[in-house]
Amino acid sequence: VSRGEAELIVASLLEKPRFEFYLNDSIDQESRQLLRAKLMQLKKGMPLEYVTKRLHFMDYSLRIYPGVFIPRFETEYFIELIEKLIDFVPEQILDIGTGTGAISIALAHLYPDVHIIATDISDKAIRCAQENIKEYGLTDRIHLLQCSICNGVNTRFDLIISNPPYIPSSRLHSLPKSVRDFEPMLAIDGGQDGVQFIKLIIQQTAAYQNPGGVIALEIDED
Ligand code: SAM
Ligand code: GLN
Repeated sequence: VSRGEAELIVASLLEKPRFEFYLNDSIDQESRQLLRAKLMQLKKGMPLEYVTKRLHFMDYSLRIYPGVFIPRFETEYFIELIEKLIDFVPEQILDIGTGTGAISIALAHLYPDVHIIATDISDKAIRCAQENIKEYGLTDRIHLLQCSICNGVNTRFDLIISNPPYIPSSRLHSLPKSVRDFEPMLAIDGGQDGVQFIKLIIQQTAAYQNPGGVIALEIDED
C-alpha cells in the first residue's frame, strides 16, 4: 500500500483522525499493541471492515460486526437503479434480509415519508442493523423483525426489496478466500441453482403486495 493508504488504515484502526500522525508521530504502548493485534487480523485475511467495524455504503457510515454480510458496491448501484426506475413514491417498503440495514437506511433517506419493515433471520444482523438505524435516528420509520423472509408480517407494501443470498452452492468454493473464511455463508448461499430464496420471496410475498407494487431483487449475473 502507499504511504497515504497506510495512514488511512492506521488511523481507522486506532479510530483517530489521519492528521494526528502529522502532529504527533509516536504512538503510546497500548495503541501500539492494539494496532499490532489488528494488523495480525488483516494479515490473516480478515476484511478491513470487520477489523475496523465500520464501512461506507453510499453516503452512510455504518457499523458492522463479524458474522454480518458486508454491503457491496453492486448494491449501491441497485439502489441507484431503484431510484431511477420506480416512478411512484413508496409509502410502505419491505426489505428482506437487511444485514447491516444498508438498503433500508438508504431508502429511508431517499423517501423521507416511507415506513419500512426490515427482516433478517440472523440475530447478529438484527443487532447490527438496530445500532445503525438508531445512529441515523430512524427507529420510528424502520421496524426490524427477526424472522424467515416475511414470516409474521401482516401489512401490505408497494415496494418489496431484497438482496438475498444468491450464489449457487456449487460456486461458493470459488469465492475469494476472505469471503469464504470470514463472511456468513447464510448470507450468500443461494442453494443449488442460486434462486432458492428468489423463488421463496416471490411466493411468500405475493399476498403482501399492493396493486401496482414492485418487487426488486438483486440477483446473480448468471
Ligand atoms: N441487505 C444487506 C446488504 O445488501 O448488504 C444484506 C444482504 S446479504 C446478501 C443477505 C441477508 O439475508 C443476510 O443478512 C442473511 O442473514 C439474510 N438471510 C438469509 N436467509 C434468510 C431468511 N430465510 N430470511 C431472512 N433473511 C435471511
Ligand atoms: N455479491 C456477493 C458476493 O460477491 C454475493 C451477494 C449475495 O449472495 N447476495 O459475495
